[in-house]
Amino acid sequence: MKAIVAHSAKDLRIEDHPDAEPAEGEVGLAVAAGGICGSDLHYYQHGGFGAVRLKQPMILGHEVSARVAKLGPGVTGLEVGQLVSVSPSRPCRTCRYCQQGLHNQCLNMRFYGSAMPFPHIQGAFRETLVADAVQCVPADGLGAGEAAMAEPLAVALHATRRAGDLLGKRVLVTGCGPIGMLSILAARRAGAGEIVAVDLMDFTLDIAKAAGADRVINSREEPEALSAYSADKGTFDVLYECSGAAAALTAGIGALRPRGVIVQLGLGGDMSLPMMAITAKELELRGSFRFHEEFAIGVDLMRKGLIDVKPLISHTIALPDAHAAFDLASDRGRAMKVQIAFDPSLSSSSLPV
Ligand SMILES: [Zn+2]
Ligand SMILES: [Zn+2]
Repeated sequence: MKAIVAHSAKDLRIEDHPDAEPAEGEVGLAVAAGGICGSDLHYYQHGGFGAVRLKQPMILGHEVSARVAKLGPGVTGLEVGQLVSVSPSRPCRTCRYCQQGLHNQCLNMRFYGSAMPFPHIQGAFRETLVADAVQCVPADGLGAGEAAMAEPLAVALHATRRAGDLLGKRVLVTGCGPIGMLSILAARRAGAGEIVAVDLMDFTLDIAKAAGADRVINSREEPEALSAYSADKGTFDVLYECSGAAAALTAGIGALRPRGVIVQLGLGGDMSLPMMAITAKELELRGSFRFHEEFAIGVDLMRKGLIDVKPLISHTIALPDAHAAFDLASDRGRAMKVQIAFDPSLSSSSLPV
């Protein structure tokens, strides 16, 4: 089978790897669609991010859907041919954080396509994959592309849980890539009363508007628009900071009302904070990292039609054009979520112009 392997910055290869057989409790999968995520792009463009560097070749990818091809011994509840969303989260289930239900904080996490540990954890951008049955969530009724959105949706749902009660609340989202966009959908589903989205690109803001944001602000073209929300100590109850940019966080904090909550999702490296405002307005800064049980919740919400991720999938590109897919995904002015079709029947065309 073919796999997409990052060797170092800008050295991406489509290589042959051996197929594997499912053992007890495992499932043999034919990968259908795989979404390119920000971390995949960092490995592709820069060979890593921060202190995390590629030290050996690594198969990329952690946002995939697949068809069940073969059941290992003892597997129940799945059928050959069934479409599943494959969770890339593989906590050990025995460390102290797993025991406390904090699976996303697992001390021995083996998350697909991650160079954080060494040896690196190989990813899921491959034609065939053997996964634990427990990673596979039935996605009957969804398209393969939608089913592959379960992972970033789970990230946004986990952040929404970190945000706390959203019923009737005023929400600000800074950074409208796929995670910002899914945060808009998740916040609205959780009952947010008003959602304002901020980005630098009209392309993404148009999609944010279509996804249900009440107002969108291009902070490059209207740098003062957000400041209006800072009057009387601020407006928003909750900030989803999805850009990882210090300027966005600072502007967002200015627009938060006293006792507001900041949920930080964007990973842009360490930054300095407006600590005076955080202290004086008694703001709460909450990190949000990955997910666990929210993965199956996300699949369920999509299957019930309560969250529609289809408008976010901007491109579906055939596996042989993977290089072009990665270049396109790096262009925030043209692409939202770019997916690779491992199942050749999925990519309608080859390359968009
Ligand atoms: Zn992702
Ligand atoms: Zn653990």
